Amino acid sequence: MSLISGFEHFVRENEPLSPLTSLRLGGAAEYFAEPTSVDELVAIVKRFSEEGVSVRLIGAGSNVLVPKDGVKGLVINLSAPAFCQIEIDGTKMRVGGGARLSHVVSNAVREGLNGPQHLVGMPGTIGGALHSNVNFPNVDIGTWVRSVDVMKRTGERLTYRGEEVAFSSHQSSFGDLVILAVEVEFEKESPESLTKQMQKLWIVSKAKRPPADLNAAYVFRDPSGESAGDLIESAGLKGSSVGGVSLFDANPNYMVASDGADAGDVVKLIDMVTNQVNEKLGVKLETAIQIW
Ligand SMILES: Cc1cc2nc3c(=O)[nH]c(=O)nc-3n(C[C@H](O)[C@H](O)[C@H](O)COP(=O)(O)OP(=O)(O)OC[C@H]3O[C@@H](n4cnc5c(N)ncnc54)[C@H](O)[C@@H]3O)c2cc1C
Repeated sequence: MSLISGFEHFVRENEPLSPLTSLRLGGAAEYFAEPTSVDELVAIVKRFSEEGVSVRLIGAGSNVLVPKDGVKGLVINLSAPAFCQIEIDGTKMRVGGGARLSHVVSNAVREGLNGPQHLVGMPGTIGGALHSNVNFPNVDIGTWVRSVDVMKRTGERLTYRGEEVAFSSHQSSFGDLVILAVEVEFEKESPESLTKQMQKLWIVSKAKRPPADLNAAYVFRDPSGESAGDLIESAGLKGSSVGGVSLFDANPNYMVASDGADAGDVVKLIDMVTNQVNEKLGVKLETAIQIW
């Protein structure tokens, strides 16, 4: 029996991952699954885990760097409708792990839920955002969480209360748990006021982030109280590049990949920036991006 027997309808072999990442870099996944239900997800995770084969999740791929030679094992994408539902009940919102942040923002603003408007312009899924505990001025996504439905690699499903999950700068305690769905809660505010806020935040976001047509990634965590982008600039590294990968001018905490770049260029530029910032400013930057 092959590893994917019975799962052929939602598992493919040797699937290129670069189109699934915001950097558009990296090789293929040995196996790639897009389950259409929780039952299929449980079954495939159990099979691969029991066989000792590695299992990874990919959301919108905006916080992962896939190596040039690709990855062994299984990569799962929760893009099927079963994992992308958004339900709102009063001040509470229940969001599937594969739902796009842009959908969370538009639903919240329309229903008068105050908070998600700050995420406007940020790529990603709610699963990826929670796993990476995305943050930006005055917002920390972990503080919105009331409960999270997760699945262990054994297929066992659990619900954690928000306070049972640890969030710190660009990190969470989810480890290798699969985030199936999250319940978040917000204060109410008028949709008109939230729409205005979102429009203003969108303009700010556009000025600071690489536009969607660039292949880009947000690279370093902000060390406490400081901005990684400001530190990189203070170290005189603005405009630096390695191979086909360069620092984004408006905020050098983003790297932008051009034609001919490969994942190795990103790693080399990360090493160069880390060393230079440490030497010149005595600050050790750590990566927010997950290097597979
Ligand atoms: C242009 C641009 C702007 C950005 N701006 C910001 C910013 O302002 N602030 C900030 O903090 N980040 C920022 N980021 C980083 C990125 O947008 C966030 O980290 C994003 O939320 C990641 O979501 P994703 O779905 O793309 O995750 P992925 O990159 O697909 O995955 C990230 C991690 O989460 C895991 N994961 C994904 N889905 C699940 C799941 N369902 N269950 C368990 N684990 C899962 C993956 O295995 C991986 O370890 C930016 C990125 C880009 C490209």
